[in-house]
Amino acid sequence: MRRTCFALAVALAVTVAAAAAIAAQKTARPAADAPLPVRYEELSAPDFVRAVSRSGATCVVPLGILEKHGPHLPLGTDLIDCREVSLRAAAGEYTIVFPPYFVGQIFEAKHQPGTIAYGSRMMLDFLQQTCDELARNGLKKIILVNGHGGNDAFLHYFCQSQLETRRDYVVYLFEPAYDKATEDKLDKLRKTTLDGHAGEEETSVMLAHHPELVRLDRAKDESGEDQKRQAGLKNAYTGIWWYAGQPNHYRGDGSAGNAAFGQALLEAEANALAEMIRSVKADTVTLGLQNKFFDDAAKPLETKPFVKKK
Ligand SMILES: [Zn+2]
Repeated sequence: MRRTCFALAVALAVTVAAAAAIAAQKTARPAADAPLPVRYEELSAPDFVRAVSRSGATCVVPLGILEKHGPHLPLGTDLIDCREVSLRAAAGEYTIVFPPYFVGQIFEAKHQPGTIAYGSRMMLDFLQQTCDELARNGLKKIILVNGHGGNDAFLHYFCQSQLETRRDYVVYLFEPAYDKATEDKLDKLRKTTLDGHAGEEETSVMLAHHPELVRLDRAKDESGEDQKRQAGLKNAYTGIWWYAGQPNHYRGDGSAGNAAFGQALLEAEANALAEMIRSVKADTVTLGLQNKFFDDAAKPLETKPFVKKK
């Protein structure tokens, strides 16, 4: 008798506890408009589902690299700066920002300490599989934001290679259009004429948001001049061109860097990226074109001439 009573009491207690837990779960479920982190790695799984919806299925992948940045900036300068631009843009126009991505093209700096240069096929496969996995998780509009000059040709080729096989997502590459008002404003703050790697621009950006990582007193320890070692070669391109001109993997003069110029650069980039994210969210054309292209590509003999609708 006492044992039955005890068992009933336990069963009742368990039921009450379970009901309380369910009620707590219900009340703990965030409202649809509750704040969400923008950083991919900070989202919980249930929040990720809401984030995919709130972002309009967009995701930003900030691509940097690990390479020397003159004698005075950190190896991850492109990673650090590019993610900052992405986070600032996402603060204005909600999107999910992927963790810092450092698999890219950097063969030309293999002679310098700290460079991590993966092979060509690895680069392509890694980025394609990252995009495939993002799309499998509902992020069908993937925005690549490049912070590393050495990635330019690779990322354009990567975008072209999206037409190799049909896919249910679109890869967009951030390419800010020339804006005269912005350029004029930046030119007023600019002090040097030669720049391109760890020079005035990159040093200024780092001074604007991570000054503790800049060793400005070392900026003149090495030459960032163009050494013009292939000057005799006319109308030609070779893979060694960057090393020929910039053997120190430094182009420009970082000692001219200043935080005000860096802030202006960050602001201009973040504004342009936020504008792009808005347009990507609203884009209903590109995936349709991509699908039509693959339909036609399967039966090229049946492709009709394109006639513009009036
Ligand atoms: Zn850089």
